[in-house]
Amino acid sequence: MSSFPKLFIPGPTHVSKDLLDIFSTPQIGHRTPEISELINSITPRIQKLLYTKNHIYLVSHAATGLWEMGLRNSVKKGVLHAINGAFSAKWASVSKVCGYHTKSIDFDWGYGLTVDAVDEALATGDFDVFAMVHNETSTGVKSDLDSIADLLKTKYPDVLWLVDAVSSMAGVKINVDELGIDFILASTQKAWGLPAGFSICAISDRMIEISATIKNKGYFLDVLQYEKSYAKAQTPSTPSIPHLFGLQKVLDIIDQEGLDNRWARHKECSKYAQEWAFSHGQSLFPEIGCESETLTCIKNDREWDIDKINDALLYQGYRMDRGYGKLRGKAFRVAHMGNVYMDDLVDYLNSFDEVLKHV
Ligand code: PLP
Repeated sequence: MSSFPKLFIPGPTHVSKDLLDIFSTPQIGHRTPEISELINSITPRIQKLLYTKNHIYLVSHAATGLWEMGLRNSVKKGVLHAINGAFSAKWASVSKVCGYHTKSIDFDWGYGLTVDAVDEALATGDFDVFAMVHNETSTGVKSDLDSIADLLKTKYPDVLWLVDAVSSMAGVKINVDELGIDFILASTQKAWGLPAGFSICAISDRMIEISATIKNKGYFLDVLQYEKSYAKAQTPSTPSIPHLFGLQKVLDIIDQEGLDNRWARHKECSKYAQEWAFSHGQSLFPEIGCESETLTCIKNDREWDIDKINDALLYQGYRMDRGYGKLRGKAFRVAHMGNVYMDDLVDYLNSFDEVLKHV
């Protein structure tokens, strides 16, 4: 057995051997035709995956930096945050630290966003930016993008829309252009199934234009720097070249699977995990209709001894999740995204069943 347990936590997720191997590809120069060829083989396929013509930036740092990039290049008047879990709360705190005029709408953990609450807050006219997390990884809640898109298009067409899709991008269909998302971001250690430390975003033309009118954005996160490099199929500073090779490989894998099959696979895995929970007398933490398709957050109604299960699963070669933050022990999450296919999930939950016989 490998001394590294197979990951069933919602990030970093399991990276398969073929992808890991690609990370030892020799380095290439970051100002060469080879890098542009590599980047040109990646960005159009990410545009296809996101159903968008928007520019795609390949970013060599964690998604947390993209929260800040989104804000720095959009907010003039103020930013409205919707909070329904730990990550959306953290993004709102980043806005405060950056000194923006900001307000948050707080939803209980386990609930998705409601259009009425967003409408009421935007109606004040105090905000030119709305920021939300599509898939709250801390609670396994997926919020509905369609209804928010309808609201913004019909009543607030000038408000820029920033969406954190860290644990949904590449696992769930998100039609960026149809929805009208101005800035969507994710890191690679979730449904992309690559190692951590790299991120992807797609930005609308109108947000780039607005960014050009904003002063004091700093240098590193200024999208205008990215734009200069984008035109040359390069990055503003030396990128993580192994991640670029990794992305090229994972896009090959995604091409082979087919986008519709990929979306369907994540849905099927979530149904399987949900049924498994119900068949054990547990319920789901998210409200009905808001269950994530990339991870399942199970409410520990049966009061299983999660720490004991964790130890036993580790012994079997699996790393489980024990619940995020204040949910520790009260709810736990099963990740089924990226390189976790139905067979992997079934194996894991069978092992979980074996463990349950002894704890
Ligand atoms: N947003 C969400 C929804 C997340 O789940 C995470 C990490 O788990 C982040 C943001 C932060 O991502 P990163 O660690 O890549 O900065």
